Amino acid sequence: MNANYPPVENINFDELNMPEQSDHSADKPEEACGVFGVFAPGEDVAKLTYFGLYALQHRGQESAGIATFDGDEVHLHKEMGLVSQVFNETILNKLPGTLAVGHTRYSTTGSSRVVNAQPAVLQTKRGALALTHNGNLVNTSALREELLQNKHNLLTTTDSEVIAFAIAEEINAGKEWLDGAISAFQRCQGAFSLVIGTPVGMMGVRDPNGVRPLVIGTIGTTEERYVLASETCALDIIGATYLRDVEPGELVWITEQGLASFHWAQQPQRKLCIFEMIYFARPDSIMNSESLYSYRMRIGRQLAKESFVDADIVIGVPDSGIPAAIGYSQESGITYAEGLIKNRYVGRTFIQPTQTMRESGIRMKLNPLKDVLAGKRVIIVDDSIVRGTTSRKLVKALRDAGATEVHMRVSSPPVTHPCFYGIDTDNQDQLIAATKSVEEIAKLLEVDSLAFLSQEGMLQTTKEDPDNFCSACFNGDYPIAIPETIKRSKLMLEPTKV
Ligand code: SF4
Repeated sequence: MNANYPPVENINFDELNMPEQSDHSADKPEEACGVFGVFAPGEDVAKLTYFGLYALQHRGQESAGIATFDGDEVHLHKEMGLVSQVFNETILNKLPGTLAVGHTRYSTTGSSRVVNAQPAVLQTKRGALALTHNGNLVNTSALREELLQNKHNLLTTTDSEVIAFAIAEEINAGKEWLDGAISAFQRCQGAFSLVIGTPVGMMGVRDPNGVRPLVIGTIGTTEERYVLASETCALDIIGATYLRDVEPGELVWITEQGLASFHWAQQPQRKLCIFEMIYFARPDSIMNSESLYSYRMRIGRQLAKESFVDADIVIGVPDSGIPAAIGYSQESGITYAEGLIKNRYVGRTFIQPTQTMRESGIRMKLNPLKDVLAGKRVIIVDDSIVRGTTSRKLVKALRDAGATEVHMRVSSPPVTHPCFYGIDTDNQDQLIAATKSVEEIAKLLEVDSLAFLSQEGMLQTTKEDPDNFCSACFNGDYPIAIPETIKRSKLMLEPTKV
């Protein structure tokens, strides 16, 4: 028996032929997804999941979805848009059950269409499975090819669907949920933090390197009620208590009997994406036993130690540059000020601005405060520079507002390599630091000075062993081998000599 999608009313399969509509031109690395799941008989699991996803909105703004399990029955709703646009009370009331899984998506594999939105729901011999995925497989093509040869009707273009079909294939070959899932994970290479719903329980899984985060929480007074989420901020919003992280190469299986743990990977290692710490995850989320706000303040202090420059004020690029700017100010003794105001209600829009608006640059999102900046020597702290286009506009806006000097400090090292593990960082030739020196970038941005945080500073400022992180986009040292064809699609490789 092959796995098949159940009929789902809100998927328009004509969309498979529609052009892509995502705006991937942002000058920042984009996070791939947020995952959430709750096993809580007697609770309104759909509503808890809604709020969990609401807290994870920063991890993906293209689509959102929730699947609930009510015994053998699965209920699904997913659409393009923000969590608050996709769901309302009426829709949530049509999602009954004892467990729910949910997802917010930003596409890195597969286009931005509702058919690619998650959860991916498949029917198997043992009932439905609903899969949510954060990360990116590096062997999608090979796995997809295998599945197609085995006559599975793959309907979407995502690596997440490929994982779901691999599990379904194992289940349909006669395996139990756990054995089947573990066999499927052993066929997957890359980054994957998964939350999977089944009629009998919920799984939380991390790949053997633990590239993307996944945490476990408890809710209510009974121990059998568990929550899984990409970040602790999604536990806080529903009043759940953080229990621990899912370990790299671990599968947790949550059923009426409680939580069981299985270490399924041969050689697990810790390679959490350092960019989660610097920029992607919310500052109020806890990683390595402290809030990311604290880490980001410390890298700001470190930046001031490494690249002090005299100035009148330090400002941060909202929101993610603010803690580092405060740290820089504390270490340097230079006054911190708010020099840029962010329009917090912008969100992601598919409506392109007019040409005149485009020329006025970043002001749709950020507006400089003239009375703070006029006549001042300004240090501006940002969390990263990818292409440099936004930074250039930002510097111009500060000068237009009257800043007499603009010094840029970046609380991460130069991004020289693309990510293959679920973050959209462009191809290598589009990364400004891959082809230009710091001096050349400074000239292009028209700043008076420019400095990046050192790799040592970034890693040693964590409270962890520096080896416990992936920092490949800063040094090209990829912890998970990448097939040559995929490498070639993004990296500027030397031409093959004949
Ligand atoms: S390559 Fe960069 S963005 Fe990708 S997982 Fe590693 S550190 Fe994170």
